[in-house]
Amino acid sequence: MKGLILRSTGLWYDVLSENNHRYKGRLRGKLRLNDEKVTNPIAVGDRVEMSLEDEEENTVLIEKIEKRENYINRQSPKKEGFAHTIAANLDQAIVVVTLAMPRTSAGFIDRFLVSAEAFRIPAILIFNKTDLLSKDELHIQEKMMQRYEQIGYKCIAISATEDKDISKVEEMLRNKVSLVSGHSGVGKSTLLNRLSPEIEQSTTEVSDYTEKGLHTTTFAEMFEIEKNTFVIDTPGIKELGLMDMEKAEISHYFPEMRERLNQCKYNNCLHLREPKCAVIEAVESGEIAKSRYNSYLSMMEGQDNRR
Ligand code: GDP
Ligand code: ZN
Repeated sequence: MKGLILRSTGLWYDVLSENNHRYKGRLRGKLRLNDEKVTNPIAVGDRVEMSLEDEEENTVLIEKIEKRENYINRQSPKKEGFAHTIAANLDQAIVVVTLAMPRTSAGFIDRFLVSAEAFRIPAILIFNKTDLLSKDELHIQEKMMQRYEQIGYKCIAISATEDKDISKVEEMLRNKVSLVSGHSGVGKSTLLNRLSPEIEQSTTEVSDYTEKGLHTTTFAEMFEIEKNTFVIDTPGIKELGLMDMEKAEISHYFPEMRERLNQCKYNNCLHLREPKCAVIEAVESGEIAKSRYNSYLSMMEGQDNRR
């Protein structure tokens, strides 16, 4: 029978079967990892082939992992040089941000978007806490949303505590598998709890664990908030992180730069100080936002400092 991985706790997995039954599953024998530099063979969102092991105990054996459509890796927090697969088979990656306190920096947003581009997963921005913004701040937010929309990222402004425009979020999630992330304090848990009370319970469990120091790595978990609508919460995962990215690659993950790359004079242009650079020209003319270019520069610098 076929199953969907909802949660991983080391050796055991929570698996949802096609007829909506939740089992505890283990791998039959040792599954060989295709990519040896990954610490976990199965991730949340993986589709698997499994067989019933013990009906009373509600356990299954996972026989086979189906080929992934995509996945998100990050640097393993435990093992240097290894990746940890956060989730697989995503339709979209959502980042909750806010211009209220604690304000999300443009750098944080852009690093998230670059990671999503690198994994070829459509990204969406949710601007939360709009109830706390002054008129001027709302105007700034509006401009910011326009800029991101222009380069192809859907944006939604909400207030999770005031229940404002949550239905827009529900609509955007419907019939999809979505990863939800955001730095702490932006209101991600508040939003997820509005979407499904089942999530609330679980997020508190996880943080209790962390406080006791029993559990330093937190795991992503998938929730079915409506029939066929899945949300993957990523507690404790603040940033996706730029995995092994070459400097020359980074501009390819800025859509507004990508579309201009072949207009630069030098085909190995890094868009830093080169003459006749189409990217720099677009920044100067205001077609590319300065803040996006600054994020680009800081990512280039960050890659310098690695290794
Ligand atoms: P998380 O760390 O992203 O999960 O953030 P929480 O959901 O725990 O929210 C952090 C704080 O912000 C809490 O005190 C929430 O009540 C508050 N908060 C969340 N969303 C909103 C919002 O839309 N408006 C206001 N005013 N406060 C919010
Ligand atoms: Zn250039």
